[in-house]
Amino acid sequence: MRQAGQLVAKALVAVHEAVRAGVTTAELDAIAEEVIVSGGGRPSFRGVPGIVPGAPPYPAATCISVNEEVVHGIPGDRVLQEGDIVSVDVGAVLDGWHADAAITFGVGQISARAQRLIEVTRTALMLAIGKARPGYRLGDISAAIQAYAEEHGFAVVREYTGHGIGREMWEGFQVPNFGVPGTGLKLRPGMTMAVEPMLIDGSGDTTVRPNGWTVVASDGGLAAHFEHTIAVTEGEPLILTEL
Ligand code: MG
Repeated sequence: MRQAGQLVAKALVAVHEAVRAGVTTAELDAIAEEVIVSGGGRPSFRGVPGIVPGAPPYPAATCISVNEEVVHGIPGDRVLQEGDIVSVDVGAVLDGWHADAAITFGVGQISARAQRLIEVTRTALMLAIGKARPGYRLGDISAAIQAYAEEHGFAVVREYTGHGIGREMWEGFQVPNFGVPGTGLKLRPGMTMAVEPMLIDGSGDTTVRPNGWTVVASDGGLAAHFEHTIAVTEGEPLILTEL
Protein backbone atom coordinates (compact mmCIF):
# COMPACT_ATOMS: atom_id res chain seq x y z
CA MET A 1 0.00 0.00 0.00
CA ARG A 2 2.90 2.32 0.68
CA GLN A 3 4.22 1.68 -2.84
CA ALA A 4 0.78 2.31 -4.35
CA GLY A 5 0.62 5.44 -2.21
CA GLN A 6 3.90 6.69 -3.63
CA LEU A 7 2.49 6.42 -7.15
CA VAL A 8 -0.60 8.35 -6.09
CA ALA A 9 1.52 11.05 -4.45
CA LYS A 10 3.77 11.36 -7.50
CA ALA A 11 0.74 11.64 -9.78
CA LEU A 12 -0.69 14.44 -7.63
CA VAL A 13 2.61 16.33 -7.66
CA ALA A 14 2.83 16.00 -11.46
CA VAL A 15 -0.71 17.29 -11.89
CA HIS A 16 -0.12 20.17 -9.49
CA GLU A 17 3.02 21.18 -11.40
CA ALA A 18 1.13 21.12 -14.71
CA VAL A 19 -1.77 23.27 -13.58
CA ARG A 20 -2.17 26.67 -15.20
CA ALA A 21 -4.94 28.66 -16.84
CA GLY A 22 -5.61 27.20 -20.29
CA VAL A 23 -4.97 23.54 -19.48
CA THR A 24 -7.90 21.10 -19.78
CA THR A 25 -8.90 18.66 -17.08
CA ALA A 26 -8.40 15.80 -19.59
CA GLU A 27 -4.75 16.86 -20.00
CA LEU A 28 -4.27 16.70 -16.22
CA ASP A 29 -5.95 13.29 -16.11
CA ALA A 30 -3.52 11.98 -18.76
CA ILE A 31 -0.53 13.24 -16.77
CA ALA A 32 -1.71 11.39 -13.65
CA GLU A 33 -2.40 8.19 -15.56
CA GLU A 34 1.04 8.27 -17.18
CA VAL A 35 2.72 8.47 -13.75
CA ILE A 36 0.66 5.58 -12.39
CA VAL A 37 1.08 3.31 -15.42
CA SER A 38 4.80 4.02 -15.85
CA GLY A 39 5.24 3.04 -12.19
CA GLY A 40 3.62 -0.34 -12.82
CA GLY A 41 0.22 0.54 -11.36
CA ARG A 42 -3.29 0.95 -12.63
CA PRO A 43 -5.77 3.77 -11.90
CA SER A 44 -8.34 2.44 -9.41
CA PHE A 45 -11.24 4.63 -10.47
CA ARG A 46 -11.61 3.75 -14.15
CA GLY A 47 -14.49 1.33 -14.66
CA VAL A 48 -15.98 1.66 -11.17
CA PRO A 49 -19.73 0.96 -11.55
CA GLY A 50 -22.05 3.94 -11.14
CA ILE A 51 -24.24 4.24 -8.04
CA VAL A 52 -26.90 6.43 -9.63
CA PRO A 53 -29.21 4.28 -11.82
CA GLY A 54 -28.23 4.57 -15.48
CA ALA A 55 -24.81 6.09 -14.77
CA PRO A 56 -22.01 4.59 -16.92
CA PRO A 57 -18.92 3.02 -15.34
CA TYR A 58 -16.45 5.74 -14.31
CA PRO A 59 -14.65 6.73 -17.53
CA ALA A 60 -11.36 8.34 -16.38
CA ALA A 61 -8.21 7.72 -14.35
CA THR A 62 -8.82 10.55 -11.89
CA CYS A 63 -11.61 12.75 -10.60
CA ILE A 64 -11.09 16.45 -11.23
CA SER A 65 -13.66 18.71 -9.61
CA VAL A 66 -13.68 22.46 -10.24
CA ASN A 67 -15.13 25.20 -7.98
CA GLU A 68 -18.62 24.12 -6.82
CA GLU A 69 -17.92 20.54 -7.89
CA VAL A 70 -17.17 18.57 -4.72
CA VAL A 71 -16.04 15.14 -5.95
CA HIS A 72 -16.31 12.86 -9.00
CA GLY A 73 -15.77 15.58 -11.59
CA ILE A 74 -15.10 13.77 -14.87
CA PRO A 75 -12.01 15.05 -16.71
CA GLY A 76 -12.78 16.37 -20.17
CA ASP A 77 -12.44 19.42 -22.39
CA ARG A 78 -13.12 21.93 -19.62
CA VAL A 79 -10.42 24.62 -19.76
CA LEU A 80 -9.18 25.80 -16.37
CA GLN A 81 -9.37 29.55 -15.75
CA GLU A 82 -7.41 31.88 -13.51
CA GLY A 83 -9.17 31.94 -10.13
CA ASP A 84 -10.62 28.40 -10.33
CA ILE A 85 -10.02 25.98 -7.50
CA VAL A 86 -9.41 22.42 -8.57
CA SER A 87 -9.72 19.21 -6.53
CA VAL A 88 -7.82 16.24 -7.94
CA ASP A 89 -8.54 12.77 -6.54
CA VAL A 90 -6.24 9.91 -7.56
CA GLY A 91 -6.46 6.20 -6.77
CA ALA A 92 -3.95 3.57 -7.83
CA VAL A 93 -3.65 -0.17 -7.42
CA LEU A 94 -0.21 -1.81 -7.44
CA ASP A 95 0.33 -5.56 -6.98
CA GLY A 96 -3.22 -5.85 -5.66
CA TRP A 97 -3.00 -3.06 -3.09
CA HIS A 98 -4.83 0.26 -3.31
CA ALA A 99 -4.07 3.83 -2.24
CA ASP A 100 -6.22 6.95 -2.62
CA ALA A 101 -5.50 10.65 -2.08
CA ALA A 102 -6.75 14.08 -3.09
CA ILE A 103 -5.59 17.67 -3.03
CA THR A 104 -7.19 21.02 -3.87
CA PHE A 105 -5.26 23.97 -5.29
CA GLY A 106 -5.91 27.25 -7.03
CA VAL A 107 -5.26 28.20 -10.64
CA GLY A 108 -3.19 31.39 -10.54
CA GLN A 109 -4.58 34.04 -8.20
CA ILE A 110 -7.61 32.91 -6.19
CA SER A 111 -9.85 34.74 -3.74
CA ALA A 112 -8.83 35.01 -0.08
CA ARG A 113 -11.98 33.09 0.85
CA ALA A 114 -11.10 30.24 -1.53
CA GLN A 115 -7.58 30.13 -0.09
CA ARG A 116 -9.03 29.95 3.40
CA LEU A 117 -11.34 27.08 2.42
CA ILE A 118 -8.38 25.15 1.01
CA GLU A 119 -6.25 25.75 4.12
CA VAL A 120 -9.03 24.79 6.53
CA THR A 121 -9.76 21.58 4.60
CA ARG A 122 -6.08 20.59 4.57
CA THR A 123 -5.71 21.31 8.29
CA ALA A 124 -8.92 19.37 9.07
CA LEU A 125 -7.36 16.34 7.37
CA MET A 126 -4.13 16.61 9.36
CA LEU A 127 -5.99 17.07 12.67
CA ALA A 128 -8.11 14.00 11.87
CA ILE A 129 -5.03 11.94 11.03
CA GLY A 130 -3.64 12.93 14.43
CA LYS A 131 -6.51 10.94 16.02
CA ALA A 132 -5.70 7.79 14.04
CA ARG A 133 -4.03 5.90 16.86
CA PRO A 134 -4.89 3.20 19.38
CA GLY A 135 -7.08 4.53 22.17
CA TYR A 136 -9.23 6.54 19.78
CA ARG A 137 -12.29 5.55 17.75
CA LEU A 138 -13.51 6.37 14.27
CA GLY A 139 -15.85 8.98 15.73
CA ASP A 140 -12.83 10.92 16.99
CA ILE A 141 -11.50 11.22 13.43
CA SER A 142 -14.91 12.29 12.12
CA ALA A 143 -15.51 14.76 14.94
CA ALA A 144 -12.09 16.37 14.48
CA ILE A 145 -12.96 17.18 10.86
CA GLN A 146 -16.42 18.50 11.66
CA ALA A 147 -15.33 20.63 14.61
CA TYR A 148 -12.47 22.32 12.76
CA ALA A 149 -14.57 22.96 9.63
CA GLU A 150 -17.52 24.41 11.49
CA GLU A 151 -15.32 26.51 13.79
CA HIS A 152 -14.06 28.21 10.63
CA GLY A 153 -17.47 28.74 9.06
CA PHE A 154 -17.46 25.93 6.52
CA ALA A 155 -19.83 22.98 6.18
CA VAL A 156 -18.81 19.32 5.92
CA VAL A 157 -20.32 17.11 3.25
CA ARG A 158 -22.36 14.33 4.87
CA GLU A 159 -23.38 12.21 1.89
CA TYR A 160 -19.85 11.09 0.98
CA THR A 161 -17.23 9.66 3.31
CA GLY A 162 -13.76 8.28 3.74
CA HIS A 163 -13.41 4.52 3.84
CA GLY A 164 -11.42 1.47 4.73
CA ILE A 165 -8.99 0.60 1.92
CA GLY A 166 -6.54 -2.20 1.19
CA ARG A 167 -7.13 -5.10 -1.18
CA GLU A 168 -10.16 -3.15 -2.35
CA MET A 169 -10.60 0.55 -2.94
CA TRP A 170 -13.56 0.65 -0.56
CA GLU A 171 -13.63 -1.95 2.17
CA GLY A 172 -14.85 -2.54 5.69
CA PHE A 173 -16.15 0.75 7.02
CA GLN A 174 -16.93 4.37 6.28
CA VAL A 175 -15.11 7.37 7.73
CA PRO A 176 -17.71 10.17 7.86
CA ASN A 177 -16.70 13.81 7.99
CA PHE A 178 -18.97 14.41 10.99
CA GLY A 179 -19.43 12.45 14.19
CA VAL A 180 -19.33 12.16 17.95
CA PRO A 181 -16.02 11.74 19.80
CA GLY A 182 -15.57 8.43 21.60
CA THR A 183 -18.04 6.53 19.39
CA GLY A 184 -17.64 4.01 16.59
CA LEU A 185 -15.01 1.43 15.70
CA LYS A 186 -11.98 1.19 17.98
CA LEU A 187 -8.76 1.98 16.14
CA ARG A 188 -6.14 -0.76 16.13
CA PRO A 189 -2.65 -1.08 14.67
CA GLY A 190 -2.77 -2.37 11.10
CA MET A 191 -6.05 -0.65 10.15
CA THR A 192 -5.76 1.26 6.88
CA MET A 193 -8.20 3.91 5.75
CA ALA A 194 -8.72 6.85 3.45
CA VAL A 195 -9.59 9.99 5.43
CA GLU A 196 -11.07 12.66 3.18
CA PRO A 197 -12.66 15.87 4.41
CA MET A 198 -14.87 17.56 1.82
CA LEU A 199 -15.81 21.10 2.82
CA ILE A 200 -18.16 23.59 1.24
CA ASP A 201 -18.39 27.33 1.67
CA GLY A 202 -22.17 27.09 1.95
CA SER A 203 -24.87 24.81 3.36
CA GLY A 204 -23.01 21.56 2.69
CA ASP A 205 -25.93 20.07 0.76
CA THR A 206 -25.02 18.33 -2.48
CA THR A 207 -26.65 17.15 -5.69
CA VAL A 208 -25.45 14.86 -8.47
CA ARG A 209 -25.21 16.23 -12.00
CA PRO A 210 -27.16 14.50 -14.82
CA ASN A 211 -23.96 12.64 -15.83
CA GLY A 212 -24.67 10.44 -12.81
CA TRP A 213 -21.30 11.10 -11.21
CA THR A 214 -20.35 14.68 -10.50
CA VAL A 215 -21.32 15.84 -7.02
CA VAL A 216 -21.86 19.60 -6.72
CA ALA A 217 -22.71 21.99 -3.90
CA SER A 218 -26.46 22.53 -4.21
CA ASP A 219 -26.10 26.23 -3.43
CA GLY A 220 -23.13 26.70 -5.77
CA GLY A 221 -20.65 27.29 -2.92
CA LEU A 222 -16.98 26.52 -3.49
CA ALA A 223 -15.79 23.08 -2.38
CA ALA A 224 -12.42 21.68 -1.32
CA HIS A 225 -11.25 18.09 -0.78
CA PHE A 226 -8.09 16.68 0.79
CA GLU A 227 -7.44 12.99 1.32
CA HIS A 228 -4.69 10.67 2.50
CA THR A 229 -4.51 6.91 2.83
CA ILE A 230 -3.15 6.18 6.30
CA ALA A 231 -2.22 3.23 8.51
CA VAL A 232 -2.81 3.02 12.25
CA THR A 233 0.29 1.79 14.10
CA GLU A 234 1.26 1.34 17.76
CA GLY A 235 2.52 4.92 17.64
CA GLU A 236 2.35 7.70 15.05
CA PRO A 237 -0.05 7.13 12.15
CA LEU A 238 1.67 6.46 8.82
CA ILE A 239 0.64 8.60 5.88
CA LEU A 240 0.99 6.26 2.88
CA THR A 241 0.19 8.82 0.18
CA GLU A 242 2.90 11.34 1.03
CA LEU A 243 6.25 11.50 -0.79
MG1 MG B 1 -11.32 8.00 -1.17
